[in-house]
Amino acid sequence: MLNFEEDISPTPQPFRAHAPAPSMPAADIDEAAKSRRVRVEDKRIINGSADVNQLVPFKYKWAWEKYLNGCANHWMPQEINMSRDIATWKDPNGLSDDERLLVKRNLGFFVTADSLAANNIVLGTYRHITAPECRQYLLRQAFEEAIHTHAYQYIVESLGLDEGEIFNAYHEVESIRNKDEFLMPFIDILTNPEFKTGTPENDQKLLRSLIVFACIMEGLFFYVGFVQILALGRQNKMTGAAEQYQYILRDESMHCNFGIDLINQIKMENPHLWTPEFRKEISGLMQKGVELEYRYAEDTMPRGVLGLNAAQFKEYLRFIANRRCQQIGLDELYAGATNPFPWMSEMMDLKKEKNFFETRVTEYQTGGALSWD
Ligand code: FE
Repeated sequence: MLNFEEDISPTPQPFRAHAPAPSMPAADIDEAAKSRRVRVEDKRIINGSADVNQLVPFKYKWAWEKYLNGCANHWMPQEINMSRDIATWKDPNGLSDDERLLVKRNLGFFVTADSLAANNIVLGTYRHITAPECRQYLLRQAFEEAIHTHAYQYIVESLGLDEGEIFNAYHEVESIRNKDEFLMPFIDILTNPEFKTGTPENDQKLLRSLIVFACIMEGLFFYVGFVQILALGRQNKMTGAAEQYQYILRDESMHCNFGIDLINQIKMENPHLWTPEFRKEISGLMQKGVELEYRYAEDTMPRGVLGLNAAQFKEYLRFIANRRCQQIGLDELYAGATNPFPWMSEMMDLKKEKNFFETRVTEYQTGGALSWD
């Protein structure tokens, strides 16, 4: 039996920075200390002065809600049965050569993309965000990125693919390398230990990187890949991989929405950053992102496959880019673009209680199952 009493110090000390001068009378100490407590109105997403260790009082409830929703959507890759996928992959007639290329190039992007995302959060974004509710979500998000990397590794291992080939695709396959090379400078700014926010120029650098990460990386660069594997699943091929991608898509759509809320809140608190030149620059980056992702679509499906073709992807990427622009308050870039894959939205509203528990193969150790002996 654990005695938790022993683990806490008998006389909790006030945090050093707030410790009053020893000569102060007792009644004054309480009032002085209270006046320094975190107040909602002092919290800021960036450059905040309130203590980042105090989650409450809540100011950014949207971030806390997303943290709770992320936890409610928890899943693990090994819960999904891959035996049908393994049989399909081994069967010489299970998939066409084009479909096999698609699976390999698809994984070739994703196996390293979520590591880049995790590094961006943990080594970059996290330390520049001063709202504890947002930090709490970022910690959950970082773990989800680890789960996604685990899922891709699990698929690679299950299918017996050449690890070296798949994990090096971001060096060796041009369309994948180009996407990552586009992203790297924006990640590098935030992870540079010398970089600090607090000037309009640096705050714009942070905002630019956050937009690239949420709206272009997670919000655009993932979507050709998601459509491809989910389209395979809809044709009853690689259904284990497709189920994993469905959970990943659900997580990623929340990452993207969190990023957009974060961006819009920073804009509201710092309207001077959102200049016409800055907006123009962001629109240019979005266009560049669409071009890079379109080239990746061509490269993964040189002849068209699964009833999907390059023209549909061009339209789809334009449709998504318009939506991202609109979500952060920019003008649409591609007038009249429509969604050629309306079934993708159904994939996103996966109801955990309806679908998830039917297919899971392991149980979590919950509080009720823990043994303290
Ligand atoms: Fe993500």
